[in-house]
Amino acid sequence: MSKSNSSCSLALFERAKKILPGGVNSPVRAFVPYPFFVKRAMGSKLFDADGHVYIDYCNAYGAMLFGHAYPDVMEAVKTQLANGTLYGVPTEQEVVFAELIKQASPCMEMLRLVNTGTEATMHAVRVARGYTGRRKIVKFEGCFHGSHDNVLVKAGSGAATFGVPNSLGIPDETTRNTIVLPYNDIAAVEAVLEQEGNEVAAIIVEPVLANVGLILPKTNYLAALRKLTVKYGVVLIFDEIITGFRLALGGAQEYFNITPDMATLGKVLGGGFPVAAFGGKAEIMQTVSPVGGVYQAGTFSGNPVSTIAGSTMLCLLLQKRNELYPQLEKTACELSKALVDLSKNYKLPTQICNIASLYQIFFTDQPVTDYACAKFSNIKMFNAYFHELLKHGVFIPPSQFETCFTSIAHSSKDISGTIEVFDKALAVASKVE
Ligand SMILES: *Cc1c(COP(=O)(O)O)cnc(C)c1O
Repeated sequence: MSKSNSSCSLALFERAKKILPGGVNSPVRAFVPYPFFVKRAMGSKLFDADGHVYIDYCNAYGAMLFGHAYPDVMEAVKTQLANGTLYGVPTEQEVVFAELIKQASPCMEMLRLVNTGTEATMHAVRVARGYTGRRKIVKFEGCFHGSHDNVLVKAGSGAATFGVPNSLGIPDETTRNTIVLPYNDIAAVEAVLEQEGNEVAAIIVEPVLANVGLILPKTNYLAALRKLTVKYGVVLIFDEIITGFRLALGGAQEYFNITPDMATLGKVLGGGFPVAAFGGKAEIMQTVSPVGGVYQAGTFSGNPVSTIAGSTMLCLLLQKRNELYPQLEKTACELSKALVDLSKNYKLPTQICNIASLYQIFFTDQPVTDYACAKFSNIKMFNAYFHELLKHGVFIPPSQFETCFTSIAHSSKDISGTIEVFDKALAVASKVE
């Protein structure tokens, strides 16, 4: 994107910087020299303030599984708007939505709806502590579980991109109870649980690490986590805010056939509207107020607009899973394969990761199995690749430490067009010193 033809975005960015820190409302949206400002979105495309069109593989960080402005969801929301948007009292549709989530997600015997993923993981951790009466939690380097105090330690996503994996403003007392271990290292987990397993309330994990680029769990890693948590009475929380409805309808739980004690859902869950959920075993969820002593509340939780959008999307997924998932996977697989082939052509040392509708490239000759490996990849090459893609109308998340996503809106024309642009972008990356 050259400066001359993106003057509207630039002007908006200058204005935004004066009122919003960094000109954005979430740090992951900021990139150098300045982000493009979007006017509207439809299907697989974003349209910016300067009239540029982008094929979108960020998909709002994975949330838009159906692409943008999906007609069924838009219609359902329009109908709801005529009936009001927030009641502060229960509705039938939030019960229906919760039942649909339970139907799709293996561990969810009971759940509660919240508004964001951050809320979901914050409350899941609190519930695990309340239920076990234990204080400590284990999280893994590079896993991102939202921006609350307990889990913002060695975190991925924007925290990794901007080099602040541990935030200012979080008291040591808070994170003293957060044990951070490398991902994919079961011996490290075993050692900690042997030492202090009876003090650990929960292990929270992204079953597929999708917030430092894309990192797959080693064979049996998740099964071993399941076994160890049972042995030590630790609540296993799968943070499925990315993997949920993406790896499969039932997320990583279905894909790997492992049932955690609790799970968190978000992103895709709301069909483009803010909604998230935490839940799991009924016995554990019965500790939540007003039944039990763990407090959790939210003015906008389970609001009729978000629940209608989410229900509509979930109904479609339940009905059409057998065609939709293979389609999503096929597109991501084609893109990944092209990246592998083109890397070879340009003799570029890259690692291409792909699972279901997720994919990402790392510019390194070493396999990427954890946060430390991801940090080792060539960021200069990634940035050159990102900007060349953008210049030719392909938008991926503007950081090595994120993941790319396909949606059902991506057409075969989008894919072939994208592969041509991949060629240009890898050619440019291959020239980076
Ligand atoms: C995005 C994300 C969150 C946080 O969700 P928000 O809705 O942004 O608060 C938590 N966990 C994972 C795995 C995520 O990718």
